[in-house]
Amino acid sequence: MFRKTDEVKVLRDPVHGYIHVDYEVVWQCINSAWFQRLRRIRQLGGAYMVYHTADHTRFGHSLGVYEIVRRMVSEVPDISKALNEREKVTAMLAGLMHDIGHGPYSHAFEAVSGTSHEEYTCRIIEEDPEISSILENTAKGLSKDVADVIRHKSENPLLPQLVSSQLDADRMDYLLRDAYFTGTTYGSFDIERILRVLRVSDGRIVIKESGTYAVENYIMSRYHMYWQVYYHPTARVYELMLRDLFTRLKDLEKEGRWPEGAEVLRPAVQRRSLSLDEYFALDENACGYAFACLMKAEDPVARDLAERLMNRRLFQFSENNPANNRRIRAQLKKKGYDLKYYFLKDEVDQRPYVPYSGKANGAIWVRMHTGEILELSAASNIVSSLVKGPAGSDNRVYYPEAD
Ligand code: ZN
Repeated sequence: MFRKTDEVKVLRDPVHGYIHVDYEVVWQCINSAWFQRLRRIRQLGGAYMVYHTADHTRFGHSLGVYEIVRRMVSEVPDISKALNEREKVTAMLAGLMHDIGHGPYSHAFEAVSGTSHEEYTCRIIEEDPEISSILENTAKGLSKDVADVIRHKSENPLLPQLVSSQLDADRMDYLLRDAYFTGTTYGSFDIERILRVLRVSDGRIVIKESGTYAVENYIMSRYHMYWQVYYHPTARVYELMLRDLFTRLKDLEKEGRWPEGAEVLRPAVQRRSLSLDEYFALDENACGYAFACLMKAEDPVARDLAERLMNRRLFQFSENNPANNRRIRAQLKKKGYDLKYYFLKDEVDQRPYVPYSGKANGAIWVRMHTGEILELSAASNIVSSLVKGPAGSDNRVYYPEAD
């Protein structure tokens, strides 16, 4: 029922070697305008400002997630047996398109515009005329099935676990890909081993006890990537300053002083529900052009922030504590800075693994040689100590370099 391509299409990929495409519907989705738009959205928002080679895009990541799902449903015997062809194709398509509604600059943009990329992803899959007709012409009801995997509402609970859980194709691809493109080798882990130890037990993905080491390695890779890459203070400040610029634009909009050249950003700044056409126009190329225009804006704050983002003149940071803050605020005021835009606070914390919290996809399960199924932190000393220890956290303030 699902038409195959004349020959297997292969796309070279530095993380997986090759991405293999053999279903016509997958190939058509890759060639759709919305999927091609992902070439204009980088995978990492601010980390690109720290690791200069990390300018890889959501396009490559999405293909990588698809490839991991494809391997899971065809090479892992338990998963392959548990799914029919339609479910396999649905899972592959959900992996391919799980980020199709991602806006520019990773999550910084969502915070400003109040948009959620999952919501847009489902809208694009179900409402975009091109994508929904590719899916519906392939099999009736397919667009809803694919969106349901992303909404965690699939009839078969295995499907969302492949694409989005604590040990899923999405995380596995972005950790490997971000480690590769940042050059942080300790972010890597043994995906071949993980794929070999995956099993299915009562509709749930589990790993074989002997695979615990490979999964510990994956958890450690998450831990390192968060602190070394995703939460790097310079990466954080870039995202904070983006939000800062949007806050300024929002204030200008309210005052009726919208700056010339930034029109593409206006619907997002107004925080209204965007049409798919408006959302499509918001890629990083368009934002880059808007920032370039803002460098010539009349408003000194918007002009300064745009210039800082474009030329990487980022704020410095120090610890967030009352005495320190008082001193910095006094200095900034003396220099005439408006503290609303020039004194930013940020706190992040992160656990590399959170044990079962009641959500179906919220844990990694290990099948012991006795047949007993344990949650990962009960089966691994390393993970257990990570879970028991305090969550890593950083609490900082950011402000312009004293000049
Ligand atoms: Zn993703």
